[in-house]
Amino acid sequence: SLNQSLSELNGDINVSFEFFPPSTPEMETLLWNSIRRLEPLNPKFVSVTYGANSGVRDRTHSVIERIQNETNLLAAPHLTLVDASDEELKELAKHYWNSGIRDIVALRGDLPDGSPKPTRFANDLVSLLRSVADFDISVAAYPEVHPDASNAQADLIHLKKKIDAGANRAITQFFFDVESYLRFRDRCAAAGIEAEIVPGILPVTNFNQTKRFAAMTNVSIPSWLHRQFEGLEDDPTTRQMVGANVAIDMVKVLSREGVKDFHFYTLNRAELTYAICHTLGVRPGK
Ligand code: FAD
Repeated sequence: SLNQSLSELNGDINVSFEFFPPSTPEMETLLWNSIRRLEPLNPKFVSVTYGANSGVRDRTHSVIERIQNETNLLAAPHLTLVDASDEELKELAKHYWNSGIRDIVALRGDLPDGSPKPTRFANDLVSLLRSVADFDISVAAYPEVHPDASNAQADLIHLKKKIDAGANRAITQFFFDVESYLRFRDRCAAAGIEAEIVPGILPVTNFNQTKRFAAMTNVSIPSWLHRQFEGLEDDPTTRQMVGANVAIDMVKVLSREGVKDFHFYTLNRAELTYAICHTLGVRPGK
């Protein structure tokens, strides 16, 4: 049975949790309640996203610092090439290394509207970080193809460049079409990418917001997902339950397909991520 095969797989699942820097005192409280709730699940690392302007960047640094100083978690800052010279990036990387940071999520970053064509890509950041210190580096991957890519094959070759430059794993953009993830994983393997392609799981509580994210990032929303959330616009409680159910179904299939590492886009909320981890057999103190 499904439950049996899941319990056989349990025990060697690794999870990581992604947060974003809060912009108000209320959101800060929400974030820290979530970090405290998820901490006992012993994630491999927790990551904090990086914005496009210096105010947001300072908030990323302060969340990272506080995670490092006040918890037992490994803090992994996201870092991007946007608006920073190689020298500045090297300085920041050195600062991180000297303050004990060993894990980094390395990205090109989203370009501000009207930017000229980029000349540096995430593989350049991976090389730069490798030249500074022996970081554990995660990069981004796109099962449904990055919006700027000329085609899927080119995008795959660019992912391989990041791995060849020294990235340790790839974390995927969120997706709901599990088949597209599985096909992508096969294509990565066929292209000689040996690093883990860690599925990025987005537990949905606000479907309208998810639809907006998906439209911006070239992620398909299957019709079954629309049907799941139909009529729940004013019913957040039921939406939570449906969202948990959707994500639990997804991770069960992925787990049966041999996936052992999961990354969660928590949106700074703990409830659904906690429940999904529980289902995977991820328990406090284990
Ligand atoms: P790249 O790997 O550089 O790819 C960008 C595009 O350029 C792709 O279309 C690729 O095919 C193409 N390309 C790559 N290399 C080359 C090359 N050498 N020559 C020509 N074309 C090339 N954004 C933020 O601003 N802050 C965050 O904290 C953040 N966190 C993220 C976390 C995850 C797990 C993911 C999946 C995304 C995150 N993003 C974040 C979004 C990300 O910055 C954007 O998707 C960005 O547009 C691309 O970043 P990348 O690292 O994938 O870039």
